[in-house]
Amino acid sequence: MAIKSVKELPVEGKRVFVRVDFNVPLTPARGIADDARIRAALPTIQYLIEKGARIVLGSHLGRPKGGPDPAFSLEPVGARLAELIGKDVLLTDEPAGDGARKVVSDLRDGQVALLENLRFHPGEEQNDDGLAKTLASYADVYVNDAFGTAHRAHASTVGMIKYVGHKGAGLLMLKEIEFLSRLLGEVEHPYVAVIGGAKVSDKIAVLESLCSKVDKMLIGGAMANTFLKAQGKNLGKSKVEEDKLPLARAFLKEAEKKNVAILLPRDVVVATGLDDPTGKVVSVDAVPEGFMALDIGPETAQGYADELARARTVFWNGPMGVFEKKPFAAGTVGVARALAANKRALSVVGGGDSAAAIEEAGVVDQISHLSTGGGASLEFVEGKTLPGIAALE
Ligand code: ADP
Ligand code: MG
Repeated sequence: MAIKSVKELPVEGKRVFVRVDFNVPLTPARGIADDARIRAALPTIQYLIEKGARIVLGSHLGRPKGGPDPAFSLEPVGARLAELIGKDVLLTDEPAGDGARKVVSDLRDGQVALLENLRFHPGEEQNDDGLAKTLASYADVYVNDAFGTAHRAHASTVGMIKYVGHKGAGLLMLKEIEFLSRLLGEVEHPYVAVIGGAKVSDKIAVLESLCSKVDKMLIGGAMANTFLKAQGKNLGKSKVEEDKLPLARAFLKEAEKKNVAILLPRDVVVATGLDDPTGKVVSVDAVPEGFMALDIGPETAQGYADELARARTVFWNGPMGVFEKKPFAAGTVGVARALAANKRALSVVGGGDSAAAIEEAGVVDQISHLSTGGGASLEFVEGKTLPGIAALE
């Protein structure tokens, strides 16, 4: 069934609950380290303000232990949002309760309230029916614009929806669904997936499902170490998931059967530790004892860039190395630039760290779609049904 856009819903003068994803990284002084997620929700919020809706925003932030914790208050988020929209944002003192009810019922057309961190209530993650009903009582219309939490069935993403008269997706959610769906349908070939990051175990499900769609898979990051080791290479003291070697071997076999080329690094940047000021480039057959592979090497990066230049569809998840550290960032930045340079390809990037790498490389505008969801984008690309999306149908 089709999902309605917020633009098809009756919102004028109505109380509209918008589930947003304001789960932003904070600085130690509780400032906003990166407001990308807040900015991503602005189109929907601004649309609702223009329409004279009474806006009730709900989000989680971090992982408070099911109770109020000032360290996870949405207060700095509310302040930043107020700056961005040039309008007061009324933060409630708790996600649900008398205080929240009062703020919501006093809202006038075009005003914006922000409920305090939904995870201050244990019922949020438990998808508790009581909390779902309370949240629903704050709204005439329900809108979900929080793609990043769409893979979780919580009170604010699923439970409350059945108690609200109208439901639909926000503009960010619609954009996510539109681009990620294109990867599940008929795509242009060559379709190349670039998969990296920390662990094979995190991503084996997506590797397996991509195997039935893509022509080539370029592997990097710590995940590549496990595959190289599975092929019998000695990786020194690199990060390797020893218990996943059989899984890695089985995957390589399956890919061969399906005629999917799996490209692994031929050279890597090694160092004795993450804090080494420089790394050195070695062949994957010659990783010295006591060294760890922390990035793909220049020959590998060039090979991957060549593949990306020829691709017509690309999905990228997971950095090629420890890109947070300058000496080990070149492989990831190289892939980001190669992806940006290909103007003919549909390029979709998912994953928190991969998104950060794209921003750092300064190529956000040259990517077809930079997903705001990490786990959610992976599950979507795996072809799983996301409960938060299914509940909008
Ligand atoms: P994403 O958030 O994009 O899904 P992941 O969380 O899976 O990506 O992986 C990112 C992390 O993997 C980064 O913190 C990065 O430093 C780490 N990483 C990448 N390559 C290596 C490597 N060779 N050795 C150790 N850690 C690595
Ligand atoms: Mg990550």
